[in-house]
Amino acid sequence: MISNFTEIGIPEDIAKAMDDMGWTEPTPIQIQSIPLGLEGIDMFAQAQTGTGKTGAYGTIVLGTVPSGRITPAAIVLVPTRELANQVSGELSKLSKYTDHVCVPIYGGASIEGQLKKLKAGCDIVVGTPGRVRDMINRKALNLSEIQAMVLDEADRMLDMGFIEDIEYILKAMPKQRHTLLFSATMQENVKQLAFDYMTNPREISVSQDEVILDLTKQYYISVGRRNKSWALCRILDIDQPKAIIFCQTKKMVDVLEERLTDLDYHVVAIHGDMPQTRREKVIRDFKAGQTDVLIATDVAARGLDIDDISYVINYDMPDDIDTYIHRIGRTGRAGREGTAVSFVTSEEEHLVKEFQMRIGIDIEKRSVPEAEPGQKDAIKRVVDYDQISDVFGMCKFEINLGSEDGFKRVSLADFIIRNARIREVSLGKVELGKTSSVVEVHKDFGNRMTMDLTKARHNGKKVMVRVIQD
Ligand code: AMP
Repeated sequence: MISNFTEIGIPEDIAKAMDDMGWTEPTPIQIQSIPLGLEGIDMFAQAQTGTGKTGAYGTIVLGTVPSGRITPAAIVLVPTRELANQVSGELSKLSKYTDHVCVPIYGGASIEGQLKKLKAGCDIVVGTPGRVRDMINRKALNLSEIQAMVLDEADRMLDMGFIEDIEYILKAMPKQRHTLLFSATMQENVKQLAFDYMTNPREISVSQDEVILDLTKQYYISVGRRNKSWALCRILDIDQPKAIIFCQTKKMVDVLEERLTDLDYHVVAIHGDMPQTRREKVIRDFKAGQTDVLIATDVAARGLDIDDISYVINYDMPDDIDTYIHRIGRTGRAGREGTAVSFVTSEEEHLVKEFQMRIGIDIEKRSVPEAEPGQKDAIKRVVDYDQISDVFGMCKFEINLGSEDGFKRVSLADFIIRNARIREVSLGKVELGKTSSVVEVHKDFGNRMTMDLTKARHNGKKVMVRVIQD
């Protein structure tokens, strides 16, 4: 059988597994690295998450080392336990027809189960450096028969201080072996590692725009928990997308489905607690275009193969890059353009920075789209004190009292404490103006500032308070 995969030398049993995974053609990094790798050439490749690098080295390892072993013939080192699980999962899928057995080992999980698996024998170990070293010391892992080794995300492993562990592990395996190194950046210490431990390595690099997510525009909206459904309805009203909305929990999927249905939006939802028959029907309906909005959890949406999704909305931001990539990979498929929008609370902004760095693509910040003139919001925007407060939880309020009303800083503070029933420690800076002043108050008292304080009067003057947003 000739396919886009076998054409570049990928063995048929692996190509068949790729077919089953819904892949249709090799990615640039796969095209560049697999033919060389299958010939046993050492390489160091610059490739980011999202380029298909796991499939690249996975194919090389599965295509060159034997299966059915007790002592492993290949080892993949990765920086984190998440990656160990993910890589092991992808290798297991790719080895569906080659029968290689792959075992993930990583710290932070019970060692007993992992020891048992190693004892039972395997062909490939995927592990984090610390735990692998530990297993070698316990004589639970024998690397003397290793034929191929992969250092994945080598730059991150070095940044995380794993160099000593890596060198220890390298010394425990034969010098004569096939070595592959993958890294998102080619910083000096990565090059040194390649130079020290590889034989005439070939350099490979794919550019950033060859990431699979190429056709997907990514942006994020800074919005607090309480205003997410307001922002969502704006997007649904204005862009009218065919969308998958991802939530972090089954409960949130249910809540959102109910809320949107109540507002007459035509949506469907899936999560793992629904019976299989219902889930299948929901997906059939969504595919057939009977409804344009699907609300889902990650697990339920896994493996969904729908080509014409124009939007992926991260109603809740995932906290790991792989889930993020997996989700937004649902759009921009089959050569179509797609948009991925993430709702990000102020505490989650650091995730955006991290993801940008890892995928090497800008995730642009945008505002919630403006409503068309005359168009009414399905859900009203509320003041979200969590979102507008600073790192100490303080929010700013403008109040229509100042020195011309006879106040000093202390007396104005007293007035607020008394009338809004605020604890003294919850009042921050008071900037006294002539006719109006700005005061900082802890977010827990935000409602009292706007509700209770506005009932007060000063010398007959009605007190007015406005929360300052941004
Ligand atoms: P990676 O760069 O290895 O993290 O891969 C990113 C994502 O692309 C993973 O979800 C892979 O399963 C997927 N992937 C890898 N190779 C291909 C391919 N040839 N076609 C479609 N998807 C792929």
